[in-house]
Amino acid sequence: MNNDVVIIGQGPAGLTAAIYASRARLKTLVVGNFNPPSQAAITGDIENYPGFPEAIGGFDLMEKLKKQAGKFSAEFKTSDAVNIKETESEGKKAWQVELMGESVTTLSVIIATGASPRKLGVSGEDKLRGKGVSYCAVCDGALFKEKHVAVIGGGDTAVEEALFLAKFAKKVTLIHRKDRLRATKILQERALANKKIDFMWNSIVNEILGERVVKALKLKNLKDKKESEFPCDGAFIFVGYTPNTDFLKGLLKTDREGYVIADDNMKTSKMGIFVCGDARKKLLRQIVTACGDGATAAFSARLYVEELKGIAYK
Ligand code: NAP
Repeated sequence: MNNDVVIIGQGPAGLTAAIYASRARLKTLVVGNFNPPSQAAITGDIENYPGFPEAIGGFDLMEKLKKQAGKFSAEFKTSDAVNIKETESEGKKAWQVELMGESVTTLSVIIATGASPRKLGVSGEDKLRGKGVSYCAVCDGALFKEKHVAVIGGGDTAVEEALFLAKFAKKVTLIHRKDRLRATKILQERALANKKIDFMWNSIVNEILGERVVKALKLKNLKDKKESEFPCDGAFIFVGYTPNTDFLKGLLKTDREGYVIADDNMKTSKMGIFVCGDARKKLLRQIVTACGDGATAAFSARLYVEELKGIAYK
């Protein structure tokens, strides 16, 4: 049987879209894989999501959203989407979403695949991944109890994760290519006041050194151009994200980095395909904006499907 909407992605954007789509009584299927989990699910404490003055754990919030979507009868399937193709169903324009080993047909699609941590792209990074190189403090932080770790990056993620790591590590050195942080002011204040965190400014990592585990970083100071070796036990890399949109294979209009371009109603360049959350080209990537996008995408999908079926409220 046809789906009215297939939502690809189980982060805050996808799950909010699922809540709204299933409450609109669209036949809703959410597909996604928890490997890797959504960025929100691996965030420690979320303290800027409205309604939780004491903060809420990322995993907890995701569990609540999933439960809420299931309550309104959204269905879930654990699988990656690998392609989307145009098709026809009962004389109507439809989409075929290819999953791992099967495919599903749907009148509309909501892309909510989010983004994944960007790599630094330096020698030693791949070889030492899981051996001191990490992209997730919540997942790996406890392994660095009483150790000295480096955090690379100057945005919200780097600073938030440096603060998290400081709970376990003996010392955290935040290495940033500029002489001040990009992160939100309140996070900056906390990091600057944290006695376990120090800063290495105007510096980039050129290589990660170590045979079996991380031993040191080869750094370059961008001001005096001098190179140095910086001993440490771990390198946590938080230098931004890349959108999980490769599977679209050029189907939709994107920007140079691969973020899907949509209008205010989350409509993409193809009729019947909508986008929400971190995979969308936009100014602010937060859980709260992902949820807002998700609600709008589901509402737009509903209008589209009802028009297609000839049951739109006029
Ligand atoms: P981001 O804001 O893009 O920051 C990436 C950081 O990495 C920047 O400081 C950048 O330096 C640096 N960088 C990029 N490429 C580099 C390279 N090759 N070598 C060295 N440094 C490099 O990414 P993000 O911090 O992951 O945040 C992503 C989005 O999620 C943002 O919208 C952020 O607000 C949001 N977020 C929000 C929260 C929160 O609200 N609590 C938490 C986490 C993330 P420059 O500054 O020089 O460009």
